[in-house]
Amino acid sequence: MNIRDYTIQSALKEMRAGTLRAKDLILSCLENIERYTETYNVLLSVAAKEDLLAEAKKIDSSGYDKPLSGIPIVLKDIFSTTSLRTTAGSKVLENYHAPYEATVVKKLREAGAIIIGKANQDAWAHGSTGENSDFGPTSSAYDIKYVAGGSSSGSATAVALGMCLASTGTDTGGSIRVPASFNNLVGLKPTYGRVSRYGIIAMASSLDSVGHMTKTVYDNALMLSVTAGIDPYDATTGQKSVSDYLSAISSLQSLKGITIGVSPDYLTVGKKATDGMNPELEKLTEEALGVFTALGATIKEIDLPHTKDALETYYVLCPSEVSSNLGRYDGIRYGNTRDAFGLEARRRIMIGTYTLSAGYYDAYYKTAQKVRTLVCQEFEKAFETVDVVFAPVSPSPSPLIGEFVNDPLALYLSDIYTVPVNLAGLAGLSLPAGFVGTLPVGIQLIGKQWSEERLYAISNVYEKKTEWYKRRPKV
Ligand code: GLN
Repeated sequence: MNIRDYTIQSALKEMRAGTLRAKDLILSCLENIERYTETYNVLLSVAAKEDLLAEAKKIDSSGYDKPLSGIPIVLKDIFSTTSLRTTAGSKVLENYHAPYEATVVKKLREAGAIIIGKANQDAWAHGSTGENSDFGPTSSAYDIKYVAGGSSSGSATAVALGMCLASTGTDTGGSIRVPASFNNLVGLKPTYGRVSRYGIIAMASSLDSVGHMTKTVYDNALMLSVTAGIDPYDATTGQKSVSDYLSAISSLQSLKGITIGVSPDYLTVGKKATDGMNPELEKLTEEALGVFTALGATIKEIDLPHTKDALETYYVLCPSEVSSNLGRYDGIRYGNTRDAFGLEARRRIMIGTYTLSAGYYDAYYKTAQKVRTLVCQEFEKAFETVDVVFAPVSPSPSPLIGEFVNDPLALYLSDIYTVPVNLAGLAGLSLPAGFVGTLPVGIQLIGKQWSEERLYAISNVYEKKTEWYKRRPKV
């Protein structure tokens, strides 16, 4: 067997029927890790084989009664673990061992999951290609010459190459949705505050969200039902009970009665910000809209005029918060000295220090906060008449490794479709929507706050119709 052919759902079904063991899953993960991790540069740490097999043995002898019994998971290396080092993709934390575990890790373990290893990522989660990692870029599972997408680069490739059945990521401006889209996966950035960030190294605290990458919508809903919820250790978790995401999935058989918002402002802004959209990707995006219509959904034009300012707003607020959060890495309390910071982290520290400094704060930070409020209000208004908003994830498929390394500004521009969602604290889900040549691409459905149930239900109808998720990388 190869774990690559399984989903969490199918693996649990077979384990519960007695035809598969957690041990088989672990051995297959380890085989794929051995085969691919160096060439694709996927994982930064892997748990010891004997420990993994001991965990699997315990689960195999005690039954599979937990929601994720025996399911192998890879964590982005920004989630604190006591067993493995936590680097955040940076040389500053190269040998850092956290004294406690993130709430999400604890919840996953309690649900029966087995933590296989920690995934490569852009250092401190700054980036959208994975190339800002101090440990080198990760390749797309679909073509080794292309980037995996970032910042949760290794988390995506690990699922696609069969090193685990699901992974965790963080999304501050697209870092779950972009790599999911570049690796034919489902990636959800949940509502701000839906999942605890306790024990997760902070990037930009008013924007960071925690979510998962999986092969299917069902698997994603299962992961979120385990990790979501109020956490006394994280005061930003919302006081909202966790919905039954798994039942929600089958609540819709068609999309009759569902209204999908499309904003010409939002779409044109993306085209203007970059060199236009990749024409084949644009065609796939239109085809995806056609599928939604064929499934019964109504497409409605909506106004989101300030999405054109979202990118500038994000790139003032994000570095401001980054510069503040990275202040603690002074070489005294954690890890190596500040000399170990890479170029992108230095750039953001400098921009953020500038935008927060006396005399410039009002002009930059405060103005950006005001525009942020306008973006939030526009989405709120749009959601009065539509169930979800439709958008691309990125203006192009995976770039070649090295294509953007000397042009950070061009790279920032490619975040145009994802950052508005974080500014407004909404939920955004990236769904497989086809291929441009060898490279997979996704589309994005955006829902209002706490609408994960609805997003999953709508996405599930689309997924069952298109079946892109059945494609696997040809490795
Ligand atoms: N690409 C965005 C940035 O570099 C988003 C990163 C993220 O979501 N962690 O800021």
